[in-house]
Amino acid sequence: MADHEEYAPPGIDVSSPSPARIYDVFLGGKDNFAIDRAAAKVATDAGPDVPRAARENRAFLGRAVRFAVESGITQFIDLGTGLPTLGNVHEVAQALDPAARVVYVDNDPIVLVHARALLPPSDTTIVIQADVREPAGILENPRVRELIDFDKPVAVLMLAILHFAEDDEVRDIIGTFRNAMVPGSLLVVSHSTVEGHPESGDEVVKAWKNATVQIHSRNRDEITAFFEGFDLLEPGVVWVPEWRPDRPGEGTRWMYAGVARR
Ligand code: SAH
Repeated sequence: MADHEEYAPPGIDVSSPSPARIYDVFLGGKDNFAIDRAAAKVATDAGPDVPRAARENRAFLGRAVRFAVESGITQFIDLGTGLPTLGNVHEVAQALDPAARVVYVDNDPIVLVHARALLPPSDTTIVIQADVREPAGILENPRVRELIDFDKPVAVLMLAILHFAEDDEVRDIIGTFRNAMVPGSLLVVSHSTVEGHPESGDEVVKAWKNATVQIHSRNRDEITAFFEGFDLLEPGVVWVPEWRPDRPGEGTRWMYAGVARR
């Protein structure tokens, strides 16, 4: 591995794997380091279709954003954005409605470095560094309030992020956003589980053992309970590739997805 390929931007810690960079490995990205690739390999050795699950999750993101725009929603808050990749929220949304506004939120500094480098200065898309476990801080952020009109419906995306939070934190995150979301708003969730893989799931989860934060598998009932206070839309909480697929077919069983209306 040539040195320049392992160059880390200032302020980026490469001593522990980061969830954003492990996910980037699964998606075939280049914004990751040897320590992240070693962690990702723990997952793919036990679950060879985990990278496919990550791609399916991105495809779900695309379908959910399209559904939101088609439902008349023009503002999005994407919590746990991840490293820029194909089909980012603002690209999907603004292709359908150029006026759509997007707030990206992530607490990993590497996400901010790459997102700022890729995003042109924009009146419609911003990225802020914040911890989703302090949801009130995000809602009170002046840049967020400038871009998002909380008197109008908003789609709040929590994709592949809630499994990095404890149960009480998840309740606080969803409850705090729910209180800020007017009727018609949408909550979009995807969440990891070992429920579909009793044989290898516990091994896959070990990929995050030494990461900056660990992953918590939850089962379908636990994830369904997160939607309390919302109307869960058809088809309910299902495997990610089964949420309103563009084409029917078999998919992976590593993540659940659901979309609900306030
Ligand atoms: N939502 C994207 C990326 C998922 S990767 C998608 O589904 O494709 C998970 C992201 O959540 C990572 O970028 C990680 O940095 C971020 N994340 C994890 N815990 C977080 C927290 N407490 N606050 C903000 N972001 C967090």
